[in-house]
Amino acid sequence: MISVAIDGPSGAGKSTVAKLIAREFGYIYVDTGAMYRAVAVYFLENKKNIADIEQVVKALDDIKIKIEYINKEQHMFLNGVDVTGKLRTPSVSMAASDISAIKEVREFLLLAQKDMAKKFNVIMDGRDIATVVLPDADVKIFLTASPEQRAKRRYDELKATQQNISYEEVMSDMKLRDYNDSNRKTAPLKPSEESVIVDSTNLSLDETVKFIKDLIEERTSGK
Ligand code: C5P
Repeated sequence: MISVAIDGPSGAGKSTVAKLIAREFGYIYVDTGAMYRAVAVYFLENKKNIADIEQVVKALDDIKIKIEYINKEQHMFLNGVDVTGKLRTPSVSMAASDISAIKEVREFLLLAQKDMAKKFNVIMDGRDIATVVLPDADVKIFLTASPEQRAKRRYDELKATQQNISYEEVMSDMKLRDYNDSNRKTAPLKPSEESVIVDSTNLSLDETVKFIKDLIEERTSGK
């Protein structure tokens, strides 16, 4: 099996790049952020206090997360209900970041993530894929870009889905989330020692995809 890990901060373009590469190489794209987001939806919809770690850990027994691929798109099912359309809002982003700092929440999702890579050729994106989830991945990429560029991309994405938010709000949410993700004790956002750092600030999408594709071809030739 081939596995490609793409880590990096929010808005770096991981999912856009990973989707295109998955399509081209016939890999399964696994968006691990969507798994954290689906868990966050549970806590928001059930009005649970996510600051109460004990309650969060207890509630994990009541949560069943399932990934399904419908028309080659990843869908997240939360207790049997497709919540994919609810995942990309600022409040879910922030709640996902908060609960993802809890060790037990990470353990809860880890097995399913590892399992996907045992069964399929995968390109998986997240924050700890190269460091924790798939330490033996064939290719490890850390995709980043300047905060301004990342905030602009996120802002355009949210605007496209008609969400009422300012660029300044997107920037401050993003900075807070990056800070939390990078400074938590368990599986913080950071490149692994073997990760190739790709800074896409001054690269077009095509250039970024080409660079990563070439790297995958080079590292997996003969596999
Ligand atoms: O990638 P995305 O922005 O959808 O991820 C939402 C949140 O989930 C991140 O801010 C991060 O806190 C968490 N996450 C994580 N580890 C991953 C993927 C996402 O902690 N592998």
